[in-house]
Amino acid sequence: MSESAKIAVVGAGVVGLAIAHRLASGGHEVVVIDPEPPGSGASYGNAGTVADYAVQPVGTPDVLRNLPSLLFDRNSPLAIRKAALPTLAPWLLRFARQSLPGAARRNAQALATLLSDAAPRWQALAADIGAAEILQDRGCLYWYRTDRALSAAESDLRFRQACGVTVERLTPAELAALEPGLPVDGGGAAFFPNALFMTDPGRMVGELAKATAARGASFLTTRVAGLRRTSGGVRLSGPGLDVTVRHAVIAAGAHSRALAWQAGDRIPLDTERGYHLEWNMDRSPVTRPVCPTDRGFYMCPMAGRLRVAGTVELGGLKAPPSPHRKARLLEGAREIFPNLPPPDRDWMGFRPSIPDSLPVIGPSREGDDVLFAFGHGHIGLTLAPITAAMIEGWIHGNTPAEGADAVRADRF
Ligand SMILES: Cc1cc2nc3c(=O)[nH]c(=O)nc-3n(C[C@H](O)[C@H](O)[C@H](O)COP(=O)(O)OP(=O)(O)OC[C@H]3O[C@@H](n4cnc5c(N)ncnc54)[C@H](O)[C@@H]3O)c2cc1C
Repeated sequence: MSESAKIAVVGAGVVGLAIAHRLASGGHEVVVIDPEPPGSGASYGNAGTVADYAVQPVGTPDVLRNLPSLLFDRNSPLAIRKAALPTLAPWLLRFARQSLPGAARRNAQALATLLSDAAPRWQALAADIGAAEILQDRGCLYWYRTDRALSAAESDLRFRQACGVTVERLTPAELAALEPGLPVDGGGAAFFPNALFMTDPGRMVGELAKATAARGASFLTTRVAGLRRTSGGVRLSGPGLDVTVRHAVIAAGAHSRALAWQAGDRIPLDTERGYHLEWNMDRSPVTRPVCPTDRGFYMCPMAGRLRVAGTVELGGLKAPPSPHRKARLLEGAREIFPNLPPPDRDWMGFRPSIPDSLPVIGPSREGDDVLFAFGHGHIGLTLAPITAAMIEGWIHGNTPAEGADAVRADRF
């Protein structure tokens, strides 16, 4: 195949690799470019849920109402680094507009369409790459720890059901029976039985990278710094890199903005930083992901360890991890399991976030020689397979898939 027949996928996170795997499986000549080993970014440290129930955008009228207190309370599950405020102001303004009732409803409907077959798509992909045992189907839980929190959640749960999500309400006794390790005292839970869970998202991404290589894709270990259209195709350059391809797919997660800009699109991409703590243990106190909703994190029974992952910190890509956020996560985990020792490791990662909570999937404004696949926010793991199918559709010139309009780059 000639050089110009190649497809370059920029970024070897779960999104880029799902795309590369699908295209290589379809016989395309694919090169994946990333300066880091596959799956080193957000795709490594997440909560591992294939969250078909995550139809609510981050921005809702409720969040908007509480935004000032949420943002400026250092202890809230959604906080901002004050130093980042001037840079983040335009993103926050857009976020506020997208949190108004009409916009939030539209965004939720678009999310519901994208999420509708997330679980079967992951089951098919995991089976295809020989990693089915990493995927578990025991569902996920939202744990409302007080009666007040439970009744306040009812309209949200009804909304999710109206979007097609299967939800079962659990009494405290039912929750305690399902998760005997939880200190349940009042409240209740929402059980999402169709959600899946990865016991090791990092390993899943590693298996995906291996399978992608086995299907013939090649990997280049360097950073794409320059993107330019030429008569021969899209020219990508960087340290030790000069390659011209027919299609470049930008899947560099939270780092995609500058490359999109070089392709001619100004995308309001920023980052919601998230954290995790881990404890090595053979038997986790929970048997499926459980989210104590007031805390904004998940407690996840990963392989050989308990991972507590989540919370949102608006703080950009450059600032170091916040010891305060880690301490808050630890405090939250110990409120539930008081005997937890100091964690064995911690981690911070960058969710790639767009103000409307929808990813950007599809052609750049100036043509489908450059395609975008980034901005998946809280659900990039979940949406990787559908993203790959959509990008393949664009490359083959097929009728855009259902839901494709809502995620186009020219919506901004
Ligand atoms: C705490 C936390 C919990 C989460 N929980 C869940 C969950 O339970 N379920 C879910 O669905 N999602 C979850 N997410 C979100 C999910 O992890 C992300 O949406 C997803 O990993 C994004 O994948 P990605 O491939 O776009 O980005 P990444 O995994 O960040 O990959 C981007 C890659 O691009 C590379 N790159 C960057 N710049 C360049 C460049 N210039 N040239 C070449 N390569 C470049 C990077 O090195 C990196 O490898 C969570 C996120 C966090 C932080």
